[in-house]
Amino acid sequence: MVIVLEKNIRDEDKQRIRVFLEKNSLRVNEIAGDEETIIGAVGKVGIDPREVEILPGVQRVIPISKPYKMASREFKRDNTVVNVRGVKIGGNRVTVIAGPCAVESREQIMESAARVAESGAVMLRGGAYKPRTSPYAFQGLGEEGVKYLREAGDAWGLPVVTEIVSSDAIPAMRDYVDVYQIGARNMQNFELLKKVGALGKPVILKRGLSATIEEWLMAAEYLLSSGTEDVILCERGIRTYEKATRNTLDLSAIPILRSLTHLPIIVDPSHAVGVRDKVPPMSLAAIAAGADGLIVEVHPTPNKALSDGVQSLYPDQFEKMMRDIEVLAPVVGRAVSRRSIPRTGSITGVTGVVRKAGGPDQPIVCAYSGGRGAYAEQAIRRYYDEEAESLPVTNFREVIHAVLEGKAECGMLPIENSLAGSVYENYDNLARYEDIEIVGEVTIRIEHSLLVVPGATIDSITSVYSHPQGLAQCDDFLSHYPAWKHIETDSTSGAAEFVAAGKDPSRAAIASETAAPIYHLDVIKSGIETNPRNYTRFVVIARSGEIVSDAPNHASIIFTVANRPGALHDALGLFMKNGLNLTKLESRPIQGEPWKYLFYANVSLPEGVSSSVVSGERIRSALSQMKSMNQDSGIIQDVRILGLYTVKEII
Ligand code: PEP
Ligand code: MN
Repeated sequence: MVIVLEKNIRDEDKQRIRVFLEKNSLRVNEIAGDEETIIGAVGKVGIDPREVEILPGVQRVIPISKPYKMASREFKRDNTVVNVRGVKIGGNRVTVIAGPCAVESREQIMESAARVAESGAVMLRGGAYKPRTSPYAFQGLGEEGVKYLREAGDAWGLPVVTEIVSSDAIPAMRDYVDVYQIGARNMQNFELLKKVGALGKPVILKRGLSATIEEWLMAAEYLLSSGTEDVILCERGIRTYEKATRNTLDLSAIPILRSLTHLPIIVDPSHAVGVRDKVPPMSLAAIAAGADGLIVEVHPTPNKALSDGVQSLYPDQFEKMMRDIEVLAPVVGRAVSRRSIPRTGSITGVTGVVRKAGGPDQPIVCAYSGGRGAYAEQAIRRYYDEEAESLPVTNFREVIHAVLEGKAECGMLPIENSLAGSVYENYDNLARYEDIEIVGEVTIRIEHSLLVVPGATIDSITSVYSHPQGLAQCDDFLSHYPAWKHIETDSTSGAAEFVAAGKDPSRAAIASETAAPIYHLDVIKSGIETNPRNYTRFVVIARSGEIVSDAPNHASIIFTVANRPGALHDALGLFMKNGLNLTKLESRPIQGEPWKYLFYANVSLPEGVSSSVVSGERIRSALSQMKSMNQDSGIIQDVRILGLYTVKEII
């Protein structure tokens, strides 16, 4: 039975209810939700619900009609989201687990991990104890295989899942495994289920070869009632009279399970169909049917695989399939889970000093896109008052990767220019990388100069190099020299470097004056930008949760709204109600969902409100109202806070 407690129940009353249930030999499980707290009580002997209903603090009692209790939707209304070291299964993302059928060698699993991670898998599979139909077939590497699997997973930041066939293997597995898999052949091995459930770790429970959905949920009940809360159901095909495929993939199980249980549901198309070219279409079908994820066999050289080679995808096929999933997922209201990039250790400062991130005596390392003398480098110097070391990388994504990998604590990304408008690539990057947040903002004035090699004159110039924005921002000046050829480069600093390297007096670069001494160039003319009110706003990014601003006065949020009249109006009204300025509202197309938009908003405290901790609360409260509006009315659909931070008004 499910016991819904009164909102303001006293601790003593709750304790009394617990004792009463336990005295009646019921297993008690408390679930504290946002809306209400409930107690689930299951056991062998039934008690009259009326006896519980009269206890103080009880709002109502709902009997569970199904034979499975803890697995049932009646027991828990909200979907269970299993969190495996940051990888979530059962949320609004599609989670893809991939890897070979069996771990065959260290090299094979390392190569497999590399290939599946690069294509977008977020968890690694690989059997070390193989339940083979024939006793003469390869039985797996056992403990050695589990260790290789772990090593490969760690190398790519992928949690690992592997099958357990006997509780005897628990001591050899427990230190290495993130998710235990119960294979189809063991779905009704109740002694094994009890032992694995008691480990309290996440479990993937495969559907038995000829198990009904009810039998499958009863098996899940064994795991849940033995101690784990994290059971993931995996449909892997059932035995039917059809011989064209290895098994028959029962996709109708997905919507049926959705109404019967709160547990996440994934699909293994590989064991279902048994031939590789049928795997991608069934994977897409599974996602269309509402699966929370997939577990797919991929092998670097399937023709040499020791088991299930015929059904294992080539890495290139897997890559193509992941691209198709990326396009399909938004159609069913989902995004694809992404791998969080593992920190590769301590930060090597640009001076070559190796230190731990955030070490007290060393300046912060901040990555930026461009070469020495780039405007982003100026932004870093301004923001950190010369206290940071800047780390040049080749593009904006590299900036994010440098931060995620731990090569830099922070990154500086341009977000908009007062004349040229938004840098959309970075809006999209912020939406895409969930582990990144904005921790600061700085605006600098962009003053362009014309740089040449020593000895060159304005008359010797025939071509001018710069970033397209640099050329566009100086169009007035350039119109005086109509014969000059305009050549685009990746960055203004890149243009300066190129001109310096060519030692050619016919070339000039439009770049920052600060680039001149770095590349030994002369400034022929400075302040050549058409509009002197030329500013670029940069955001400072860091890995989420690593840098916290104690007195934030700004926030950046991304959200989507329901397609109904007034939805955006209602969402924005929250800022007004909380006395916040909306300083920027930008819409961006949602990848894969043509004509649907994501809103990017910046809010700040109005002028005159000092950025005290209390004022920061005003922002926090608006954001939490936004989140609850998401839950209550669904007007705001996805809210992500990109950052709560302090803006330094330096120009
Ligand atoms: C496996 O995933 O390697 C496996 C043996 O699967 P199943 O138990 O579904 O046959
Ligand atoms: Mn297999």
